Amino acid sequence: MSDAIPVNRIKGVGEKTAALFGRINVFTVEDLIGHYPRDYETYDAPVSIREVSAGSVQAIYGQITAIPNVKKVRNLSILNAVLTDDNGDSIQLTFFNMPFLKKVLKPGGFYLFRGLVQQRGTHKIMEQPRMFTWEEYQKKSGRLLPRYALTKGLTNQMVQKSVAQALEYYPPEKEYLPQSVLQKIPMLSHREAVNSLHFPENREELLAARNRIVFEEFFSFLLVLRKNKDLAAKTENHFPMYETADTVRFLEQLPFPLTKAQKKVWGELREDMGSPYAMNRLIQGDVGSGKTILAVLALLMCAANGYQGAMMAPTEVLAVQHFETISGYVEKYGIAFRPVLLTGSMTAKEKREAYAKIASGEANLIIGTHALIQEKVEYSSLALVVTDEQHRFGVRQRETLAAKGKEPHVLVMSATPIPRTLGLLMYGDLDISILDELPPGRKPVKTRCITGKKRADLYGFLDREIDSGRQVYIVCPAIEDAGGSGLNAVKSYYEDIAKAYLPDRRVGLMHGKLKPKEKAEVMDDFKSGRLDALVSTTVIEVGVDVPNATVMVIENAERYGLSALHQLRGRVGRGAAESWCFLVSDNASESVQKRLKFLCSTSDGFAVAQYDLETRGPGDFFGSRQHGLPTLQIADLMNDTRTLHAAQSEAVALLAEDPLLERPEHALLARQVEQMFDKAGTMN
Ligand code: ADP
Ligand code: MG
Repeated sequence: MSDAIPVNRIKGVGEKTAALFGRINVFTVEDLIGHYPRDYETYDAPVSIREVSAGSVQAIYGQITAIPNVKKVRNLSILNAVLTDDNGDSIQLTFFNMPFLKKVLKPGGFYLFRGLVQQRGTHKIMEQPRMFTWEEYQKKSGRLLPRYALTKGLTNQMVQKSVAQALEYYPPEKEYLPQSVLQKIPMLSHREAVNSLHFPENREELLAARNRIVFEEFFSFLLVLRKNKDLAAKTENHFPMYETADTVRFLEQLPFPLTKAQKKVWGELREDMGSPYAMNRLIQGDVGSGKTILAVLALLMCAANGYQGAMMAPTEVLAVQHFETISGYVEKYGIAFRPVLLTGSMTAKEKREAYAKIASGEANLIIGTHALIQEKVEYSSLALVVTDEQHRFGVRQRETLAAKGKEPHVLVMSATPIPRTLGLLMYGDLDISILDELPPGRKPVKTRCITGKKRADLYGFLDREIDSGRQVYIVCPAIEDAGGSGLNAVKSYYEDIAKAYLPDRRVGLMHGKLKPKEKAEVMDDFKSGRLDALVSTTVIEVGVDVPNATVMVIENAERYGLSALHQLRGRVGRGAAESWCFLVSDNASESVQKRLKFLCSTSDGFAVAQYDLETRGPGDFFGSRQHGLPTLQIADLMNDTRTLHAAQSEAVALLAEDPLLERPEHALLARQVEQMFDKAGTMN
């Protein structure tokens, strides 16, 4: 950015204004030109005074009929005038600190005023209106005038003027979209689009300008992501792995055959790990689609080839579960894992022992939480890293884990069904495998909304399920009793409701504040059938797998987003038996009921996520997990999906032609992508 022109080079922008611009992160002319309007103001035709409505900005035209008089109130000078139109209706105009207007406004003269209409008792007034001649106003009317994000001291007019100057003397780069794209998709040039975005002549022009800028935002964004990917794809495969008898034998011994979708993905993983380049792949599959076994197979192939693999999970409960599942396989099938568990809650001594095994290579499979990426952990031959429930981690954490090895294979798994468009952006740097098939015999979980009044019936149902050998989950929101908040705090719920309704049953309690050892014990009791019911907070939301559990009750269901509810529901329906999910809520508001009913109507995770996104916005998907991704200024993921798809196919086509953007005609584009990449890299 050595050629950046500071904003104070613009005529009329002195030190003071430049400092104000600095407060809204505008330092250079380029920044200023990229400071797109927030919205636009229109100058509509004047209305008759009879029609003015309080609270809106309107224009009126008429004759000054009362001689203005100036009043002094403390150090404020107030000027009141009366304007009367053709119909004979009048309105009072009030001006503050503009005593000179007394000389300007001639009684009997015609004027046009535009300002905010306000109600004062029984009549309306217009405060501090701007004055125009009829001709001046005609020129503005029908135009869209930009309104910018401001800061105290910086007026909209100052920004408008500065932008106009900047566009005239320092117009933006001519064109950085490749000609090939512009020929295929007719669009304004970059320069035209920027001009029109700031000062559109009319709505059509604004729309065309917006389309063009949205396209280029997506386009550069995707190239930035592809750039990541290409860097990764260029990574040599330092750990070529080939299938040994181990995975084949293991698969033969497993009590179930892989589904067709699992087989396909397993083929993709094997191919990746034996290819000239390191694997960089996302497995996306709805809850219960059987992702774990694929990670286990990849890790087994890694171990059988003499390397180390690591698997990171977002919660301790899940890490422990994976560790136990895999230890179980080792015992039962004699496979070549020497697994070790590493979590934050282990004692210092336990950790030291684990570190030693990891550093010496004695352990060839390391399973744990964020503890895996702590500085102290040194791996001996890390060749494959797996992150489970990737949507719970940031991009950076995934990278930190990978950086523990020397460019290892990377496999990430996510159950959150991200709508395709969002997936493109979030995981654009990864190859994607989709598990679009559930293991055979799964029936959709029957989902019902009920109110608290039905609780006794509900518990009757739970009791009968337990009678037939099944287990049930009951999820409640909070830990501490929130004193009359109407929430079912998990502890008192456990004592006063669950145990009271199920007096003869073995009911367990699980929440985040339990000591890790206790958590593990409770989970273990539930898994092995020593508990009939588990009252829990959402710590069991992700990944927990107890196929014998058939009922999920979610109290205060209105508190959760649909995607979270869908995840919770995914804890049941993991075996062949009929399963149920009850959403308990006394919240009768229409939007809540609509949301919950929607979940009752579908078991398709993608539909759920789409609905969530539409009604609650993309914040849940992006939010704080957006780290490391470039920002989009005006492009809107929800409403600009068509443009996103167009940009995507063009980006792919371009990279097929010129993967490193080395051709001279792509120089401007390459620079643009470079800058965006740098900016994204420094965010966090
Ligand atoms: P998720 O994709 O949600 O992580 P899991 O890997 O936990 O799902 O698998 C869910 C359940 O399905 C587990 O009990 C697992 O053993 C079982 N499972 C996985 N694959 C198959 C299959 N091909 N046939 C039958 N059951 C399977
Ligand atoms: Mg899982």
